[in-house]
Amino acid sequence: MRQSLLGIIALLKRRYGRSFHRNEDPFYVLIFTVLSARNRDLQTYKAASALFKRFPSMRQLAAAKIKDIENTIKFIGLYRQKAKRVKAISRLLLQKYECRVPANMEKLLELPGVGRKTASCVLIYAFNKPAIAVDTHVHRISNRLGVVKTRTPAQTEAALMSLLPKSRWLDINELFVKHGQQVCLPIKPRCGDCSIKRCCNYFAATKTAL
Ligand code: SF4
Repeated sequence: MRQSLLGIIALLKRRYGRSFHRNEDPFYVLIFTVLSARNRDLQTYKAASALFKRFPSMRQLAAAKIKDIENTIKFIGLYRQKAKRVKAISRLLLQKYECRVPANMEKLLELPGVGRKTASCVLIYAFNKPAIAVDTHVHRISNRLGVVKTRTPAQTEAALMSLLPKSRWLDINELFVKHGQQVCLPIKPRCGDCSIKRCCNYFAATKTAL
């Protein structure tokens, strides 16, 4: 199984390459990921861009009125909850970490509303540190492929970590997110156009059923 997952990563790399930036500004990655929950990327980019245009620094966000943050990002889902979170995170980083985002899973998880997926995204895309950020795409595709058999993203993360060497953890999120957005769609996956269908349990099962 481990061998086939490495093979799957190699095939997806060939298809998608690597285009996401690493070593991004950690505060931007953190806030972007908080804003991204249940939103399309385009809307998240717009919201992050509007937010940092109006409040360019962590200090300004920490001091901002919640209402003003809400008004800046109100075109995205859950904007009220996200506005509170963005301010609370900024304040804590300012007070406890001298305006620095910690490069450490345990400390990131102490930030208000930050779960393992967000913390992992920060480790990967800001610090280039090995982590596996499991969102709906990573969870769904891993289970469809049959490389894991899990019910929750936390279980998927643990299973993938045990299947892969740390050096490959960085690739999973980027590749599976792209594949999930373009080919392995949540409803009606485009299996005919899939470069990893030969490794996929879901594809094998649907072919047999036809
Ligand atoms: S074969 Fe279909 S279900 Fe399997 S990974 Fe590809 S698109 Fe997803």
